[in-house]
Amino acid sequence: MKKSKTNDETLATHAGEDHGSPHGDVTPPVHVSTVYRPKPGTECFSANNYDQEDGFVYTRWGNPTINLFEQKLAALEGAEDAMAFSSGIAAVTGLFLTTLKRGDHLILSNVCYAGIPEFVHDILVNFGVEATFVNTSDLAKVKAAFQKNTKLVFVDTPANPTLRIADIAALAEMAHEHGAQLAIDSTWATPIATKPVTLGADFVMHSVSKYIGGHGDIMGGALVGSKKTLKPIRLKAGIHLGAGLSPELAWLASRSLHTLPIRMAAHEKSATVVANYLEKHPKVARVIYPGLVSHPHHALAKKQMKNYSGMMAVRLKGGAEAAKSLLNKLELITHAVSLGKTKTLAFWISTEELQKNSFKMSPEELEEHKEWAGEGLIRMSVGIEDPDDIIADLAQGLSRI
Ligand SMILES: *Cc1c(COP(=O)(O)O)cnc(C)c1O
Repeated sequence: MKKSKTNDETLATHAGEDHGSPHGDVTPPVHVSTVYRPKPGTECFSANNYDQEDGFVYTRWGNPTINLFEQKLAALEGAEDAMAFSSGIAAVTGLFLTTLKRGDHLILSNVCYAGIPEFVHDILVNFGVEATFVNTSDLAKVKAAFQKNTKLVFVDTPANPTLRIADIAALAEMAHEHGAQLAIDSTWATPIATKPVTLGADFVMHSVSKYIGGHGDIMGGALVGSKKTLKPIRLKAGIHLGAGLSPELAWLASRSLHTLPIRMAAHEKSATVVANYLEKHPKVARVIYPGLVSHPHHALAKKQMKNYSGMMAVRLKGGAEAAKSLLNKLELITHAVSLGKTKTLAFWISTEELQKNSFKMSPEELEEHKEWAGEGLIRMSVGIEDPDDIIADLAQGLSRI
């Protein structure tokens, strides 16, 4: 019987796994060899001549186990190719350092994963790359930010930590009109919610350390795109910067992808119950969750996302002190950074701290940010526990602040 290759659940379990094994393995093995015998007639020693289609050479260049993870992820994204990295940040820096050169201009979300603006203003600008940070949910502002030398637009949606949503199809069209490429940080959405390449994006970036790994035990990243856009990145970021993922972690990440569709459905189900509970709680000032009709970009989220994910931001009426007090009182919910695990995690993120170290916003941008985040917010990654138990923990904590 012909296997269906179009549904996420089927792709997650089967894609990339069709290669025959001489032993008939049903579960793919981990290929640990760091070196491979060249195929006849394909001896290549310089990275500049390397084409993975001709076979594997050296694991820093590519390996069958890493390739399996890449092909499975690419299939789920509805894209041609993917490259695995040692972290989400390695994927971002690999993208920036290979697609941008001295004199080029980059447009970025002014709210995104804090390590990204920090890399840009602490390192990238020293190489002569210009950068403009804008609210990428505001298309007019993005349009005004383009310059003649703009080469790349980098946007996360939903944004970390305010959950602003950006219109991927409109941004892709705008970037291409200006001769630039669009990269989407889709870590919070995952391919189960959004497949940015199918909406026109040139690159999709993931922190595999989050939902894709899913259990808080893999540090990894990925870039997804076409064979043509990824080839120079594989050569430069993979081979020259050495930013790739190890086979052992790629194997674990492939295994995690098998359950990504059902985990995302469970995260969304629990998060929806928790968001509705918190929104009605008398001590809660605001809940920002793309699945709530109160989310300012709910209509866009509904159009663009097939799953609302498990991420939300919560502001309490008691402000920062109440938030910190709540985090100390939670028992089931873990007070920790990161996200996308099976267990619920919550962390307090101060607007002042982010402004000082990461975002460096203008007074006008800061006002705009505060409409969402106030003086700071609790970022909650709702796990796959029974939502009644998560609510019970929040209820006992909130009753004691
Ligand atoms: C965590 C995260 C990153 C960075 O990924 P690492 O795997 O920690 O290097 C980038 N973007 C987003 C949205 C993230 O949540």
